[in-house]
Amino acid sequence: MAMQEPSIGASTAGTHLFPTYRRRDVVFVRGEGAWLEAADGRRYLDFGSGVAVNALGHAHPHLVAALTAQAEKLWHVSNLYRVDGQERLADRLCAATFADRVFFTNSGAEAVECAIKLARRYHWTAGAPERTRLITFEGAFHGRTLATIAAGGQAKYLEGFGTPLEGFDQVPFGDLEAVEAAIGPLTAGILLEPVQGEGGVRVFPGEMLRTLRALCDARGLLLVLDEVQTGVGRTGHLFAHERAGISPDIMAIAKGIGGGFPLGACLATERVAAAMGPGTHGSTFGGNPLAMAVGSAVLDIVLEPGFLTGVQLAANRLRQGLAALADQFPRLVAEVRGEGLLIGLKLNVPNTDLIDSAFAEGLLAVAAGDNVVRLLPPLIIGEPDIEAGLARLEAALARLDRKDG
Ligand SMILES: *Cc1c(COP(=O)(O)O)cnc(C)c1O
Repeated sequence: MAMQEPSIGASTAGTHLFPTYRRRDVVFVRGEGAWLEAADGRRYLDFGSGVAVNALGHAHPHLVAALTAQAEKLWHVSNLYRVDGQERLADRLCAATFADRVFFTNSGAEAVECAIKLARRYHWTAGAPERTRLITFEGAFHGRTLATIAAGGQAKYLEGFGTPLEGFDQVPFGDLEAVEAAIGPLTAGILLEPVQGEGGVRVFPGEMLRTLRALCDARGLLLVLDEVQTGVGRTGHLFAHERAGISPDIMAIAKGIGGGFPLGACLATERVAAAMGPGTHGSTFGGNPLAMAVGSAVLDIVLEPGFLTGVQLAANRLRQGLAALADQFPRLVAEVRGEGLLIGLKLNVPNTDLIDSAFAEGLLAVAAGDNVVRLLPPLIIGEPDIEAGLARLEAALARLDRKDG
């Protein structure tokens, strides 16, 4: 497909929106599967999936049907009442995971916020109210609320927002000795993403997750996982921690579970969740009937026998093609990493250069820390779209090679 040069600019200038985002000057008006169509009619292959949100691609017929059917019945009633669909979706999430209890939120940050509150409240209930601190890892990303930017600990997100919320002790990525040294009488638990997404697609090896689990058990700490990005099939497992054969005490999810509808959840074991009695936490919109209908429809598909095997096969084929591209363009690509369809290309040139070049070729990708380009195609991606994505990426790399060479 012949593409024009994209226009990239400060497209929020002259609008009434907060200037918080560096937006690309493009408006998408419809989508189908892995494809998006812009207002000017140009088509893009979506290897960003709204940052791991559109797990089933765009306009999946089963999700559209579930949402429209619910929209005709009931939109909102409040958590003053039993909400249609909440208990059913919670049952299904618990049947599929370690968890016994679920609290529904509208976003990832709220799910992590709930996890942080729960970790503190658990120890408070257990007679150790001083245990309020969580150990976190450098490069972490947990959201943009005041608590979650403190948990993430990244200076660029904390700057200008006052004293960070107390209660987080950050150690270098994967440094187990530093974790042990950081554990003290005030420690409540350890919080991490099994694969750091924003931080540059950095994978915690299974052995390390097992060691952290054992450490938590030995020291009476809670293992809190942020699977907002890695969850719901993204890594080829329903949840990324499953590959290590461990389970957390608390887990935050969002992104993929809503398939594009705002939905998050905090999952926990009975023992831990019991600390959140009536009145301890709440959300006006959390667990809204529309979100419940869509979340349950996403699970209909993701829990189908063979779905996760399909994700693994797609990931293998894509990784194979990417490895070949890394060999073909060693000056540009340093490394291919990640798990399942959460893939990072570590570059030797600025990551944004490749994202711009890919956009010019009609391929959407997402930047991450550590100079990485994230590839997050929808989990339903088929062979032809994988090949199309690889072809566009090759063209994008060739374009960059010519430009920089
Ligand atoms: C996206 C993300 C969040 C924040 O989710 P929001 O819905 O933007 O609040 C938290 N943790 C991780 C790992 C994420 O990828």
